[in-house]
Amino acid sequence: MPKQCTVLGQTAQLLPIKIRQRIAGISPRPRNIVNDCRIYTCLKATTGMDLGKEGIMPLVEDAVVWSNQHGLVVALKGDEFVNPDFAVIHAPLSLTPVVYPRARFKLAQQVMPLFNRLVDAVAADEDYLEGTLRHAAQYDGFTGRLLAVLHATRSTRDEMRVAGRNVVLGIHRSDYMLDQPSGKFLQVELNTIASSFGCLSALMTRLHTYMASRITSLDPARLPANPTLEHIPDAIATAATAVGLREQGGVVVMVVQPGERNAYDQQWIQLGLWERHRLRTVRMTLGDIAASAKLDETTGTVTLANGAPVCVFYFRAGYTPVDYPTEAEWAARELIERSNAAKCPTVAYQLAGTKKVQQDLAGPGVLERFLPDSRDSGLLREFFAGLWSLDPRDLTTDPGVAAAVADAVARPEAYVLKPQREGGGNNLYGRSIVELRAALAAGGEQLSAYILMQRILPPSNRSILVRNGQWSEAETLSELGIYGTFVRHGDAVLRNQQSGHLVRTKTSSSNEGGVAAGFAVLDSPYLVD
Ligand code: ADP
Ligand code: MG
Repeated sequence: MPKQCTVLGQTAQLLPIKIRQRIAGISPRPRNIVNDCRIYTCLKATTGMDLGKEGIMPLVEDAVVWSNQHGLVVALKGDEFVNPDFAVIHAPLSLTPVVYPRARFKLAQQVMPLFNRLVDAVAADEDYLEGTLRHAAQYDGFTGRLLAVLHATRSTRDEMRVAGRNVVLGIHRSDYMLDQPSGKFLQVELNTIASSFGCLSALMTRLHTYMASRITSLDPARLPANPTLEHIPDAIATAATAVGLREQGGVVVMVVQPGERNAYDQQWIQLGLWERHRLRTVRMTLGDIAASAKLDETTGTVTLANGAPVCVFYFRAGYTPVDYPTEAEWAARELIERSNAAKCPTVAYQLAGTKKVQQDLAGPGVLERFLPDSRDSGLLREFFAGLWSLDPRDLTTDPGVAAAVADAVARPEAYVLKPQREGGGNNLYGRSIVELRAALAAGGEQLSAYILMQRILPPSNRSILVRNGQWSEAETLSELGIYGTFVRHGDAVLRNQQSGHLVRTKTSSSNEGGVAAGFAVLDSPYLVD
């Protein structure tokens, strides 16, 4: 029997009509901040503040049961289970969606194909990648290894290009936070490898649509469509077909980490590949590939132990040094890079997504080199936060860098210090930033591997966070990710689309934001005009 949610129904009346007024328009001028803040303050009223424990628990039960029923789950991995791989629990989630301004959200969707094109253009310019990352790579061994693979495989790529066999597949996620002082979405980073949670996020939209149907104050029509469950498998299948090994029983290899806890998000892609395209997926670690995959040096075709050729290597691993414990894993990466399969990503795409490249593109005229139409570059620059190189060479030649470093030392709370790492938990704050100037004064060459970034200041919200079947109420910040899919065969772009979204919500006191890393929960956007 449907549960009564009258308490929520009453609090909905607290939503003043005025806050639904248009805050939009996409002008670069500062937004109507008062309205932005009030939206968030008012959402507090629609979620936890006034509900009372007796009102929340039935909704939490509803959400958890719905999640378990519909596959919005992560692996439990407890030793007590006979087969831990099959024990699951609902994904960490927010009970209700978070309010976002519709026009800003739409703009973030609209620019995603431009970000896809930007990645493709940057990755195609290998001299640019090598030049931009050279100094960072001297002090960051992982970036150095990726650059070495890029370098070693360059002639093979040229041959593939000439033979018309280069199929490129991008599955990206551009992450943003709504910056309260400017009213803009500012880009946190652009992920070009293992952009995760796409499928669980589509289920999160469905869960919140269901919750909105139960909570009279929420309008399900305000939850935007989230087509990741279709778009991600479709993009992989388009690339697989373009590679042309499907008639010979070609498969998709999903490159995974051993003991992945988020395997169910990945399994949704596998299910989509089979149900929508009759494409088989084989899950392999880089170690497995090193041990059993064979590369035909003449054709570039990789075959697995059972003889199946590989159409696509789709990486959900390979973005952290931990994924390469021995030389065998690096050999596997190079074998993949030399193959005629589509790689998501290529090493060049992965390098195009590094923080150093993100920072460099923000410099004067650099983005414009890759997106010559000033309307395109102008749109993307609307999303760029302040980013500065920490290469000591730039400190002496660029007055902007010197000024930013001085300001960061004086106001460390306004900045984030980032190394060339992915996967969460690596950024530095506060004290580490204060030590910057001394480090740079002392030569500080190793800082070439770091960038300095303006700290984005999102408005805080109040959320009910549900983990392990238990809820807590917290002051929170949210981060929006927009997925993009891109497929190119030679010069022909076969696909370039905005492909859905993800919202992750974390407690305000946490600096980091990963769901898999345990900092955040899945959420979804609730659009207001
Ligand atoms: P990673 O590649 O490890 O995911 P990110 O750049 O996404 O690195 O940073 C991790 C988290 O740190 C983000 O999800 C976000 O919560 C927080 N963060 C990163 N950059 C900023 C920033 N400029 N301002 C505020 N928070 C940030
Ligand atoms: Mg991130």
